[in-house]
Amino acid sequence: MTKKLFVKTYGCQMNVYDSARMADVLAPLGYGPGETPEDADMVILNTCHIREKASEKVFSELGRLRQIKADKDGGLIIAVAGCVAQAEGEEILRRAPFVDIVLGPQTYHRLPEMVAQAARAGGAVLDTEFPIEPKFDFLPDARADGPAAFLSVQEGCDKFCTFCVVPYTRGGEYSRPAPAILAEARKLADQGVVEITLLGQNVNGWHGDGKSFGWLIRQVAKIDGIERIRFTTSHPRDMDDDLIAAHGEVSKLMPFLHLPVQAGSNRMLEAMNRRHDRDFYFGLVEKLRAARPDLALSSDFIVGFPGETDADFADTLDLVRQVGFVQTYSFKYSSRPGTPAAGMPHQVDEAVKEARLAELMDLLQDQTNRFNAHCLGLEMAVVLDRVGKHPGQMIGRSPYMQPVHVDNVAHLAGKLVNVRISEIHPRSLRGEVIHSERIRA
Ligand code: SAM
Ligand code: SF4
Repeated sequence: MTKKLFVKTYGCQMNVYDSARMADVLAPLGYGPGETPEDADMVILNTCHIREKASEKVFSELGRLRQIKADKDGGLIIAVAGCVAQAEGEEILRRAPFVDIVLGPQTYHRLPEMVAQAARAGGAVLDTEFPIEPKFDFLPDARADGPAAFLSVQEGCDKFCTFCVVPYTRGGEYSRPAPAILAEARKLADQGVVEITLLGQNVNGWHGDGKSFGWLIRQVAKIDGIERIRFTTSHPRDMDDDLIAAHGEVSKLMPFLHLPVQAGSNRMLEAMNRRHDRDFYFGLVEKLRAARPDLALSSDFIVGFPGETDADFADTLDLVRQVGFVQTYSFKYSSRPGTPAAGMPHQVDEAVKEARLAELMDLLQDQTNRFNAHCLGLEMAVVLDRVGKHPGQMIGRSPYMQPVHVDNVAHLAGKLVNVRISEIHPRSLRGEVIHSERIRA
């Protein structure tokens, strides 16, 4: 590796996966990992367009990169990738003419050509097509970076929730063929990966080769070396009976499910075009818990969607209590240009959104605390995948996605170990190793 690449990732796990794959695509050109934009030959901002704030951050980061590029006498290639690039390609080049490459999420397999073209032409390259050829057919083998890996199986979305830009920036639903997914999973296992998270904007809508997502999970579970399987993000509408049954039948599938509901009021769910009501969601939770009684649930919520009243918000709080979520991601509604909700009447005041978000987060923190407290003294399997702050300390994820800090285990880095939970902290747990040999999840 003779050149350095610095990738800054915004947004979801799909972007984390895409950033790693962009690095894989550029490795044959001599690009290895760089620590900072200052020491890099090329910087990629892999952007997120989901909320207004996420997009704005990109333009302020570009201001900083402009200076770094000037300090290096132009010796820095700047690329903007991801959903902001897809949605605002021309605008980026207008506002930041020092950017060399703008590319959407579906064309990063063409990055080597774009780098060559930018060097040749000396002008900016813009590629925000939705090509016929799926990029996955042109990517090199994924390189593992530790014992836990993401694997993208599905992209795009046809659901058109009225607040969301994903169907426009990522395009329509596409399922990767099963043989390609399973080959990638085997290669990751060969490199020591023990935990795979299957990714998609609507991951459980996967229907490659006419098969169901439950079937795919069962195939991944057959791969030697893969001990744990997770998936995200799923849509309630695509939670079929086979996938529900898999939660009871596939022991490698972790007992933690992120199943976004967005709101608890039927009126809001309808205005959001979520295609399900609260009773449908309660019914799903009941079936899932019948299949896997220790299942912990997590969700996404939007507060302050246009027209949301105090009564609608009270329905959300009620749903949160009834389901007993142990973790959530809650957001204030952010108006996105081009989406139907942006033009809806009765947009909610920022102060009201703030107050509702604070109330929802307090309730959820309470529920998380109660769940964590119940874990004290339990034995759990943890994949030690990150180095902690203290010498010898490692951090891993419990089956329920809680970060678990374990001391004096540097020699067990990357291993799946059994720990007993000995302390509970507001955002993490502490555990003591009981078995250090590899065990099943
Ligand atoms: N496909 C997933 C689903 O159906 O829930 C969600 C994927 S989306 C990338 C991640 C989350 O961002 C959504 O669940 C939603 O809560 C949030 N989100 C999307 N658009 C938003 C907006 N305009 N304002 C606030 N939050 C938004
Ligand atoms: Fe966006 Fe998810 Fe709705 Fe698709 S299902 S439009 S990705 S929130």
